Amino acid sequence: MTPVTDDDPGQHGRTHRLELADQTLREWDATVLASDAEGVVLDRSAFYPGGGGQPPDHGVLLWGGVQTRIVGVRKGDDLWLVPEPGDPLPPPGTAVRGAVEDERRTALMRTHSGLHLLSGVVFRDFGALVTGGNMQPGEARMDFNLPEVPPGFRDAVETAINAEVQADRRIDVRVLPRDEAFALPDIIRTATNLVPPEVKDVRIIDIVGLDQQADGGTHVASTRQVGRIEVVKIESKGKGFRRLRIRIAD
Ligand SMILES: [Zn+2]
Repeated sequence: MTPVTDDDPGQHGRTHRLELADQTLREWDATVLASDAEGVVLDRSAFYPGGGGQPPDHGVLLWGGVQTRIVGVRKGDDLWLVPEPGDPLPPPGTAVRGAVEDERRTALMRTHSGLHLLSGVVFRDFGALVTGGNMQPGEARMDFNLPEVPPGFRDAVETAINAEVQADRRIDVRVLPRDEAFALPDIIRTATNLVPPEVKDVRIIDIVGLDQQADGGTHVASTRQVGRIEVVKIESKGKGFRRLRIRIAD
């Protein structure tokens, strides 16, 4: 839901972000540029650092016959991969094999794409705009501005989103120049006010025919890969403020 805010969405400080161009990448070679108990900086990393409601990846760095478990990412001038306390730390200059924990990341990709699908359907069928969202692997919430909850809303939403899963729509990633991105009518409703003026390129997640959003997260390649989605709960949090909780069912 939150757009990329770097000038070059493929670069954060000294780290080239591999996961933005290849969301299927789980293992790669890298060199350590800096390390201490607070974190490790790599020249190349596929660890999603968190943002837009999607939490950071977990995984390992393998080197010299040992492993450094990575349990989070801290975003500063550089991307600092946060090690499990007490694990050995690779000194600067070390060649490492990085690996993202696949089960967690894949669940987060399915969940994140499921949220975009939900926001696309609720806007198309009920005209409601997203005001916030958050996710964990396999479950998520999304907030909408919806003054009235129509009768049968939960079932209608659940049926419609699972029809879009079955329709197996492609989910494309594109990076567009700012002007071109904001010429897309769907983008304006969600992102114009969120993208700082200095950002020149905007990464777009396009559920083809349903929803386009400026977004820095990782997504599956088609809606069928999300799997069946349950609308677990609808909460009223105040005037026009509805919170939908979803779960990926399989
Ligand atoms: Zn998103």
